[in-house]
Amino acid sequence: MCSFYEEGIHASHADLIAQLEYAMERCPGEAVIKIFTSGSFFDEREIKSGTRKEIMERLNADRRVRKVIVESRPEFVTHKNISPCMDILESPLDRFTEGESERSLGTRPKFEVSIGVETSDDLIRDRCINKGFSFTDFIAAAEIARECGSGVKAYLLLKPPFLSEHDAIEDTIRSVEEVSEHVSTISVNPCCVQRATKVHELWKNDEYRPPWLWSVVEVLKRAKEVVRDTIIMSDPVAAGMKRGPHNCGKCDSAVRNAIRRFSLTQDNRVFDDLGCDCKEIWGKVLDLEDFAFGLPLVT
Ligand SMILES: [Zn+2]
Repeated sequence: MCSFYEEGIHASHADLIAQLEYAMERCPGEAVIKIFTSGSFFDEREIKSGTRKEIMERLNADRRVRKVIVESRPEFVTHKNISPCMDILESPLDRFTEGESERSLGTRPKFEVSIGVETSDDLIRDRCINKGFSFTDFIAAAEIARECGSGVKAYLLLKPPFLSEHDAIEDTIRSVEEVSEHVSTISVNPCCVQRATKVHELWKNDEYRPPWLWSVVEVLKRAKEVVRDTIIMSDPVAAGMKRGPHNCGKCDSAVRNAIRRFSLTQDNRVFDDLGCDCKEIWGKVLDLEDFAFGLPLVT
């Protein structure tokens, strides 16, 4: 489902620092900085340790920065890679001018490592996603990040190929429960159709449909009832479009907005007033799609 391998090019130290400068010039005020590498921030082949160091130093010196989020596969989440970042963020600093030093302790940027564990089910991660690591690997990496003083965020993939809508919902809710004790934040990412992928091939043959937005709502609502202390969020890519998570077309923007409100407020009452004729069709899909071995009944 991931086409980033087609899109990446080599970026030098100077390129990456220029990107950071470009972004920070446009940063309007206090900010959480998410470095979205679509890969691994701690992978030396993607970002050299010297570049990582400079990025962290610049962000630490910038008083607008409240939190820095990076992403990585578990095998790169090591003490050797994380500790230097934490050391920079924890160093006392010229971050604040004289007289402000009292504040500096509480206002140092926090650090968070995001890991795309996708599901807590090893069989689904292996056969439907082809991710190449186990749930045990994820837990070990989360443990290391926490030992280093970093927060941990998990990405979950809602509805990889070869699962029915119903099984996909149950997989993600179970994953939220099983992942929650290892992380502070969970991001539910509904699968979308990217070019030059297996999912694209299946989708063209009517053998894959991205999840319904009703399924995202169902996951967020039920998961929040079980896991109250973990932040659960979702910012669906391509929501309301054929290649992204969608409903009937009429209700998509209202449902998408409710999902955004939930991510900000963690209050699942934002879903109470949602309704549409297509919700009944979605319910039938949940009942019947297993009989079609996960083939989509409605596009
Ligand atoms: Zn609808």
